[in-house]
Amino acid sequence: METPDSLRDAIVYFDEFEHCREFMVELRWPDGKVACPRCGSDKIFWIAKERVWKCYGKHDHAKFSLKTGTIFEDSPIALQKWLPAAWLIINCKNGISSYEVGRALGVTQKSAWFMMHRIRLAMQSGTFEKLSGEVEADETFIGGKARNMHVSKRQRRITGTGGKDKTAVMGIMERGGKVRTVVIPNRRKSALQAEVKKHVEAGAALYTDALLSYEGLATDYAHRVVDHAVQYVDGRVHTNCLEKFWSLLKRSISGTYVSVEPFHLFRYLDEQGFRYNERKSTDAERFITAMKQIVGKRLTFDELTGKANKLQLPAHP
Ligand SMILES: [Zn+2]
Repeated sequence: METPDSLRDAIVYFDEFEHCREFMVELRWPDGKVACPRCGSDKIFWIAKERVWKCYGKHDHAKFSLKTGTIFEDSPIALQKWLPAAWLIINCKNGISSYEVGRALGVTQKSAWFMMHRIRLAMQSGTFEKLSGEVEADETFIGGKARNMHVSKRQRRITGTGGKDKTAVMGIMERGGKVRTVVIPNRRKSALQAEVKKHVEAGAALYTDALLSYEGLATDYAHRVVDHAVQYVDGRVHTNCLEKFWSLLKRSISGTYVSVEPFHLFRYLDEQGFRYNERKSTDAERFITAMKQIVGKRLTFDELTGKANKLQLPAHP
């Protein structure tokens, strides 16, 4: 696939609609056989003027575009802006604000914010492969600048348990490999151990701190504990790799995003986790990896702002 190597190249390259079209076709239909995303028919006809295909399959001449069935569906923003925006967000090391993206692309901050959340959906880990080898597990609290918050919001937020106005997040990391992050309701045994079992292969070496919630994992794992009241490192037993990830994450969230609603926190975790997991790739490779995950996902404005509860997937992915 022909792709640009830098942000500047991406902006210039995708400025041509024909390049966007070639890119999207190769991404979605790698064998070059474009088919209707709704019925799968290849009896289709490209209408250049409207930049859509007409389906002559079961669809009675219904139209579909390059965006149909992807995170871009129903967006009035052109692919010429979407693709550089995706490049920008996927590759910025420390996160980027919706104000900056808006200015760079000539869209409103509100549009940029919505675009960024859709792109984060593509950055969500799609794998259920379990972590193995040496694995660190740890939790942290994120958020909470209650001082600067409106009183009604503050009252609502400070009633939660543990970390007061902060949100509990758990991280599980394979040394030299990938990280998984998840927002957890609390740090009790049931919550933490369920995540460990979901993400870590039985028999792996598991390193945690001395939190009692981890007790009992030794039946499934080679579980070793480092008691932070005594020391932080005991040979290979430590959670320092994850600690480093937490500090990156917090710097990015507090530096770039100012404040993140707990409701949206998992989206920022997906973004930061994706970039970490793809840290050994080039910008172009990282871009392609995320873009391969745009199909079959949708996020509407109502879902994002909490007006709808369920994630809608297209009827015929
Ligand atoms: Zn069709």
